[in-house]
Amino acid sequence: MGRGIVCECAGASACPDGSNNGTCTTQVNGYCFATVEEVETEAGLVELERTAGCLPPDESGFMQCKSSQVPHRHPKVIECCNESDLCNRRLQPRLPTYLSDTEPPGLEPAGDAGGGPQPSLLVAAALGVALVAFLAAALLLCRRRRRAGKRPPSPPHPHPHPAAAEISSGSGSGLPLLVQRTVAKQIQMVESIGKGRYGEVWLARWRGERVAVKVFFTTEEASWFRETEIYQTVLMRHENILGFIAADIKGTGSWTQMLLITDYHERGSLHDYLQTAVLDPPALLAMAYSVVSGLAHLHMDIFGTKGKPAIAHRDIKSKNILVKRNGQCAIADFGLAVRFVAERDEVDIAPNTRVGTRRYMAPEVLAETLQVTDFEAFKMADMYSLGLVLWEMCRRCAAGDRAQQVEPYALPYHDVVPSDPSFDDMHAVVVAKGMRPPLPSRWARTPALGALAALMAECWHHNPPVRLTALRVKKTLAKFHADCDVKLV
Ligand code: ADP
Ligand code: MG
Repeated sequence: MGRGIVCECAGASACPDGSNNGTCTTQVNGYCFATVEEVETEAGLVELERTAGCLPPDESGFMQCKSSQVPHRHPKVIECCNESDLCNRRLQPRLPTYLSDTEPPGLEPAGDAGGGPQPSLLVAAALGVALVAFLAAALLLCRRRRRAGKRPPSPPHPHPHPAAAEISSGSGSGLPLLVQRTVAKQIQMVESIGKGRYGEVWLARWRGERVAVKVFFTTEEASWFRETEIYQTVLMRHENILGFIAADIKGTGSWTQMLLITDYHERGSLHDYLQTAVLDPPALLAMAYSVVSGLAHLHMDIFGTKGKPAIAHRDIKSKNILVKRNGQCAIADFGLAVRFVAERDEVDIAPNTRVGTRRYMAPEVLAETLQVTDFEAFKMADMYSLGLVLWEMCRRCAAGDRAQQVEPYALPYHDVVPSDPSFDDMHAVVVAKGMRPPLPSRWARTPALGALAALMAECWHHNPPVRLTALRVKKTLAKFHADCDVKLV
């Protein structure tokens, strides 16, 4: 039914055959693009070169249309459009310049495809934002000093993004919105590192540092909105929760691009890590303790004017947990999370239709008996899923001299349901038969594995109120550590 659109075609690389009157036609659902690139002339000078042409449709619409493609000596920036014929004539991609997003629109140089903003304006804008950021950081630092005496000491935690860690927007966790937009502008995509159901995650560079950028599929606006909102919740920052840096949404007429920028963890998800890693008992305990600490923080409500609402994750699984370089974990992917609004005594359910991952769904979720108005019920369902994650970790723990004797990595219920189990498959196993993952007999011979096996069984209990809370699991592990004198963190 549809047809392609006509695009401006310019530049030898886009129009090798000299082009058809300076135009080309895309395939159905294709895009027009324009790029600007620094090229070196024969005389050794650097010039800006504009190229324009047609792009084939791609899966998420704008993946290849994202920002700077080459973070090297000669950067290249691409922008795309598909709202009308020749729409790329209006595109004016600009190379990333510090704070290029902060000047008022009226100050754009008119009709200059390759030109950037005037340097003096840039400097003024940069100084303005730097001042705001500095004041915010100073204010926060003063407040922290004042509070420092009241807080229990926490282990030193070198944060890779001091700016992101120190500056608060005043209303929640994270950078001021203006700075977030600027950060998003300065991102250079490097390579795709993961795909979930709701977006594609990229390794990117932000001013020389590595960051992760989740680009949401165009249909997943609700997930982007929800995840951004959750990350900006007051007091959300915790060393076992993925560190949020910035979120941005851009739109030009018919398409929108939604980004979420976070800390990057090169070891990837727990699911990927456990495929090959073998843990010794202290490493297993430290890892388990870190995940449960993250979940306990999420579930906890902190009272006071700047208190933290309790949050339930609703999609706890090894693919949504990242492994940090120090062996601790960080919980990620908050597209499904719910918050408990204490003043109104109600759950703030997002208007998105996502449901969790079937394989990890608690029996009451599978049986659809979970009371959605009862916030505690969501926390209990998280605890069930946590039990399964602990099981995945324990299989990869080798004790003492029996280093070879570990179970191969496996997803929970791998042996009793197909690879993409249906609701009915899971219901039959978890609810009707009441099955749970098997506990290998070797676990009983290792104290750490024995302790965790007992805990996971209490997490995945059929009756939700009987399950342990995250705080209880955390305290039990801390006590176990104290008794065994094993260093946990
Ligand atoms: P989705 O909502 O689409 O499931 P996730 O946030 O769960 O997206 O990310 C999908 C995958 O991308 C993860 O399972 C993980 O492998 C990888 N990933 C996500 N965030 C990061 C990060 N910050 N560092 C490294 N890898 C990441
Ligand atoms: Mg995910």
